[in-house]
Amino acid sequence: MVSGPAVDEGLYKIRHIRFLTESTFVLRIDRGNLQFKAGQHIIVGLEGALNLREYSVYSGENDDYLEILVREVFKGSVSLQLKQVKPGQLLQVNGPFGSFGLETFNIFSRKHIFIATGTGIAPFHSFVRSYPGINYILLHGVSSAKEAYDRNDYDPHHYILCSSKEKNAGFTGRVTKFLSGYPVDPEMLFYACGNGSMIYEVYHILRDKGIPVENINSEVYF
Ligand SMILES: Cc1cc2nc3c(=O)[nH]c(=O)nc-3n(C[C@H](O)[C@H](O)[C@H](O)COP(=O)(O)OP(=O)(O)OC[C@H]3O[C@@H](n4cnc5c(N)ncnc54)[C@H](O)[C@@H]3O)c2cc1C
Repeated sequence: MVSGPAVDEGLYKIRHIRFLTESTFVLRIDRGNLQFKAGQHIIVGLEGALNLREYSVYSGENDDYLEILVREVFKGSVSLQLKQVKPGQLLQVNGPFGSFGLETFNIFSRKHIFIATGTGIAPFHSFVRSYPGINYILLHGVSSAKEAYDRNDYDPHHYILCSSKEKNAGFTGRVTKFLSGYPVDPEMLFYACGNGSMIYEVYHILRDKGIPVENINSEVYF
């Protein structure tokens, strides 16, 4: 659990947009006075828009900017609008919110297993950027290798790509299949983020492996 910094709300200027694939991009915006703990999310929308959505903070706690990683969802309302924004434009940002976060007293002593699908890697990017010495293994479930978002930001010895559709791009198969065969112990701390069915499966797999439920944290995106 993370203790909650004060919630801020206001208009934040877009500094930069960086496309990672044709449908996924990192939006960098001014940080203003917004304080957050890695793992928390903000609620974002166009200036004056009625529709806003949650996005995990992608940048680190000590960066002087805020970043979010967004994937355009087919016929999605807000993700499609965010894909079209330009530098200098203002975004409505509220936050931070959520309690998906690290127990900071044992970041360097306990082994953390991060399990993500797609843009569910965003909070783990913030964890690793905020706490460079953290002891972790990151399992990233994607369809194909092009979705290995910013993989060079992770230690290659700590990053395992699980590709369900592309062969010879790391482990071939879903991230949950990899986890089923992965040796775990009850001292490890588990964090899962992404779609709900993956997270449901992760709980089952880990329960069958004897992991206490209090060692499993999750954030469901949809
Ligand atoms: C706590 C939290 C943190 C989140 N962080 C991120 C993040 O860091 N990056 C990010 O891209 N999204 C994130 N999301 C999802 C995001 O809030 C929106 O749901 C997503 O951008 C779609 O919004 P939309 O308005 O474009 O689509 P909508 O018009 O709201 O929805 C269209 C449909 O797409 C489904 N959907 C939503 N997300 C996805 C997805 N990723 N893949 C496939 N279908 C989806 C919805 O369930 C809905 O049925 C997060 C959600 C939560 C609850």
